[in-house]
Amino acid sequence: MANLDILIYPDDRLRNVATPVTDVDEETRALISNMFETMYEAPGIGLAATQINVHQRVVVIDVSENKDQPLTLINPEIIESDGRVEHEEGCLSIPGIYEQVTRPELIKFAAIDRDGNPYEMEADGLLSICVQHEIDHLNGVLFVDHLSALKKRRIRKKMLKHEKDR
Ligand code: ZN
Repeated sequence: MANLDILIYPDDRLRNVATPVTDVDEETRALISNMFETMYEAPGIGLAATQINVHQRVVVIDVSENKDQPLTLINPEIIESDGRVEHEEGCLSIPGIYEQVTRPELIKFAAIDRDGNPYEMEADGLLSICVQHEIDHLNGVLFVDHLSALKKRRIRKKMLKHEKDR
């Protein structure tokens, strides 16, 4: 199993709030492997379980150029943030749409890795943006929610039109 179907905005299931993982077991690791495969195949730099209709707090990320720095975030929490930065974002659930989003520039987050070990990490640049974007997914939030109502309506309309054309 891999190449899982990615939910496309405005699918209501993208609004579900994911529940924390209580036990990092073989099932969790299988989910993580499938998520990495799906993300690399897409291709994308991050994927939240919510996007494949699994409502657990699991995120996979790889922002490296050579796609050789996989990062797993189970039950991630941002514990510190600083600054503001504007950055262009896209999303595998909103294909073809790219918009500037303003978010904190630097973050420190806590998470659990695929072996069940807790860790903390500081992030800036693309990794910081990506971690924040993916944690939003776990809370049912999409990057378009950070845009003006007008822009968001326009994107929604566009996506619904694409759906009809498919
Ligand atoms: Zn996304």
